Amino acid sequence: MEKIKCLIIGSGPAGYTAAIYTSRANLSPVLYQGIQPGGQLTTTTEIDNFPGYPNGVDGNQMMEDMRAQAARFGADIRIGVITRVDLSKRPFTVAVEGVDAIEAEAIIVSTGATAKYLGLPSEAALIGQGVSACATCDGFFYRKKDVAVVGGGDTACEEALYLASLCRKVYLIVRKDYLRASKAMQDRVFATENIEVLFGHTTAEVLGDELTGVVGARLTRADGESVTIDIDGFFLAIGHSPMTRLFEGQLELDSEGYIITRAGSSHTTVEGVFAAGDVQDPVYRQAITAAGSGCMAAIDCERYLSELALK
Ligand code: NDP
Repeated sequence: MEKIKCLIIGSGPAGYTAAIYTSRANLSPVLYQGIQPGGQLTTTTEIDNFPGYPNGVDGNQMMEDMRAQAARFGADIRIGVITRVDLSKRPFTVAVEGVDAIEAEAIIVSTGATAKYLGLPSEAALIGQGVSACATCDGFFYRKKDVAVVGGGDTACEEALYLASLCRKVYLIVRKDYLRASKAMQDRVFATENIEVLFGHTTAEVLGDELTGVVGARLTRADGESVTIDIDGFFLAIGHSPMTRLFEGQLELDSEGYIITRAGSSHTTVEGVFAAGDVQDPVYRQAITAAGSGCMAAIDCERYLSELALK
């Protein structure tokens, strides 16, 4: 069994920032990158809102830069997936690819979140070919075209408004007969001429194939009627799922599965386990907020370990 001070699980901006800070604090962190090294930002093309990049930066490049920065200070960054954690006693035991391999004094959880999809086979078949869960990442490809956004929350409205500034027409497909989004957001949507809200509609099928990409969607209206819309892009904005299955029954999670942290800190309900980034943030979900919370987790972890050493 390998014995380490600090294990970081996940390799988005939260995990890499935690690795930069903990390695500079001589905690010799080991970071496991997980199934998607670099996290959600690697599916983004250009990031224009991260301070310090006046001309924007490619998502993959940014994550590679963060990885290299953490490695420069000695963080041990490993390819691999943590498959089990036992937080019932310290040091915590952790399995890598099914084999108990590590004993860690402290753990920083930065496993992130993934966008939810409807689960239709036709949707899955066209991911990356017109089906996307990130309008800010992919909207650019649909300039002057017709697209649809699914969802009725703030994210769906925000994405619809963003797309409306680029596209010819945006359908907002809402399963209920009202929007869940804030009033201000709703007002903006209703005031935007090229957004058509389709209340009481669900998606039965995304139309298109490998050669054509998305060409339309077949919707079902509340009265059972089938409606077809012609679109080139189909955007999902129906929420995110935090990657917390490993911690169920061990850390306190909210009703959506997000890790609950003590207000103003990264402390979870288990002493010595800290959470950072989207895995504990259902609201902001930005690269910069994730990086900021990774820094908080590293500082909390460092304090915890130094207090442990004094005991
Ligand atoms: P929400 O959970 O608020 O909304 C999800 C939407 O997707 C709901 O309208 C829901 O419908 C719909 N939906 C869920 N599953 C399906 C499905 N299978 N088929 C069709 N529709 C479905 O998620 P958001 O990502 O919009 O927001 C998350 C949080 O982030 C919220 O607290 C929000 O306020 C916040 N946020 C704030 C922003 C801002 O203030 N600028 C911007 C973005 C997010 P139904 O209503 O029927 O359940």
